[in-house]
Amino acid sequence: RIAAGIDIGGTKIAIGLIDEQGTVLAQSTLKTDLTLTPKEMLGKAANEVRRLADEQGIAHTSLKGVGVGAPGPLNTKKGVLTCPPNLKSWWGYPVVAELKEQLSLPVKMENDATAATLAEKWVGAAQDSEHFVFITISTGIGAGIYLHGKLITGNTGNTGDAGFMFVHPQGDVVQDEPSGYWEQIASGTAIARSASEIVGRQVSTKEVFELAAAGDPAMSKLTERVYTYIGMGCVSLINLLDPAKIVIGGGVSQVGEPLFSAVRAYVAKHALNPSGRETAIVPAQLQQNAGLIGAAALIQQPY
Ligand code: ADP
Repeated sequence: RIAAGIDIGGTKIAIGLIDEQGTVLAQSTLKTDLTLTPKEMLGKAANEVRRLADEQGIAHTSLKGVGVGAPGPLNTKKGVLTCPPNLKSWWGYPVVAELKEQLSLPVKMENDATAATLAEKWVGAAQDSEHFVFITISTGIGAGIYLHGKLITGNTGNTGDAGFMFVHPQGDVVQDEPSGYWEQIASGTAIARSASEIVGRQVSTKEVFELAAAGDPAMSKLTERVYTYIGMGCVSLINLLDPAKIVIGGGVSQVGEPLFSAVRAYVAKHALNPSGRETAIVPAQLQQNAGLIGAAALIQQPY
C-alpha cells in the first residue's frame, strides 16, 4: 500500500506518495506561507495529498497513513510543534490532530532529522547497518540515532539535537545567546557568516568552499577549522554511541571528498579506539528526497 509523506520546513512543505519500496510515486511542493495560519497551511497540504492520490487513481482514504517530518523542538507525544525557530506562528500547534481530522487517516510525526535517518536506513546509505548516526549539516545541524536495529526517538522526539552539543566553550558569539555549540560554528549558516566577517562582504557557503579549493588562504583556513569542528562532533558521537557508521547529509555535505577525508582523518586520530573499532564515515544517499521519504518511512517501516 501507498503512504503519504509531508515534510514541513520553514521555506517549503513537500508532499508525496511513497510505495512500500521507498519509491516516490508523485510529489509536489508548497511554499510555507507564514501569513496563513497552521490550520490553513495544513489544509493546503491535505488538499495536495487528496489531489496526488486522485492522480494515482486511488482514493486518499485507501492510503496506509500520513508520515510527517517537522523541525524541532517538537513534542511527538503530544503531536505538537513546540518552538521551531523558523515557524514561530506554529508554536504549540497540534499538527498530528489537525491532519488526522482533515484526512481521516493514521498520522505519525517525528522530527525531520530523525525521519531522514529512517530514510537512509530504508533505501539510503545505511541499509546494511544496525548501528549508525545520521548527521545533516545544513542551515543548522541535526542528527538521528539508530542503534540495535531501532530508531532512537527519546522521550519527546527530540533525540539527536546534535547542533546544540557544545564543542567550544567560547565559540562565536551570536547576540546574547549561549555560544560554542556545534551548529553555531559548523552549519552552513555559520560558515557563511564567519566568511562574510573575514572577507567584508556577503559570501555564500558554497563560495567559501570554492574559494578554498582555488587556494584562497583565508578561506582554506576557515574550511580547515570547519572540518576540525565537524570532526570533533563526530568523535563525541562515536565515543558516546559506538556506531558502525556515520552518514553525513545536508547541503554542506555536497562539498564532498575534501570534507569527508578531513573528517575521517580527524576521527582516526581522535576517536577512542579501545577495541579496534572503525567507524565508516560516508555521504548520505538521499539528498533531495530524504525528508519526504523519511516522513513516509514513519508509516512504511517499523521503528
Ligand atoms: P535545509 O537547511 O533547508 O534543509 P540544505 O540541506 O540544502 O537545506 O542546507 C542548506 C545549507 O547548505 C545552506 O547553508 C547552503 O549555503 C549550504 N549548501 C548548499 N549547497 C551547498 C554546496 N554545494 N556546498 C556547500 N554548501 C552548500
